[in-house]
Amino acid sequence: MINLRTSSEMDTIGRGGAIIAGLLSELPARVVPGVSTGAIDRFAEDFITSHEGAVPAFKGLYGFPGSVCISVNEEVVHGIPSYRRILSEGDVVSIDVGVRLEGWCSDSAWTFPVGEISEGARSLLEITERALVAAVEAAVPGHHVGDIGAAVVRVVEGTEYGIIRELVGHGVGRDVHEEPQIPNIGRPGHGPLLREGMVLAIEPMLSAGAPNIRTLDDGWTVVTADRALSAHFEHSVGITKDGPRVLTSAGRPAEVGSSTSGTA
Ligand code: MG
Ligand code: MG
Repeated sequence: MINLRTSSEMDTIGRGGAIIAGLLSELPARVVPGVSTGAIDRFAEDFITSHEGAVPAFKGLYGFPGSVCISVNEEVVHGIPSYRRILSEGDVVSIDVGVRLEGWCSDSAWTFPVGEISEGARSLLEITERALVAAVEAAVPGHHVGDIGAAVVRVVEGTEYGIIRELVGHGVGRDVHEEPQIPNIGRPGHGPLLREGMVLAIEPMLSAGAPNIRTLDDGWTVVTADRALSAHFEHSVGITKDGPRVLTSAGRPAEVGSSTSGTA
């Protein structure tokens, strides 16, 4: 079942989303060479819980041990934070954050450069962020889920990057993962109709090589099969008659936040 939310329910999801946006805006100064992913996880948990009633939605979700997912370089998603994993100059780090506030969930991810990164890595991040912007702009009433994936495809086709197809976005609300699934490929006009009140986590994931993935022996960390770099950008977005309402961008000095905050 696809749930529809009132605008005041979206407001609450957006208050959780603003906590995520605030956290992500603090991270560029902390995602630096020599820092462990465990220390970043600790900072994230402290930041989230410093807001009354807010908890990290991923901690314990399906048994996940961290407060946030931190995925480095070829790791696509679900990287487990560790004090033994030290970031190096040139890494790219995807940090995926869920917040639960007053019984509502919000979900957003961003990929950060560690110090100076290669031209190729920077391009991968830019294209993936651009894919998110296009996908969010497609999230309007009367479109279909396939229009969102088609928007990702339009940005990525003609580049050297692969769209990771085995992982998808999702509805978000009372639970982190709700229906419908939001693939990052699609055909315009196909899939479930987008209706006012839906709240969707839209999250393109790209690989600098082939799009195939595998899960490491830890049972969590998803990597590109060819160990190519990957990037992941995500927003939780409400479908409204006034257009896409980005619920996880408040206060974020980033392209997506600035380009879509007029409707948030
Ligand atoms: Mg996420
Ligand atoms: Mg998600």
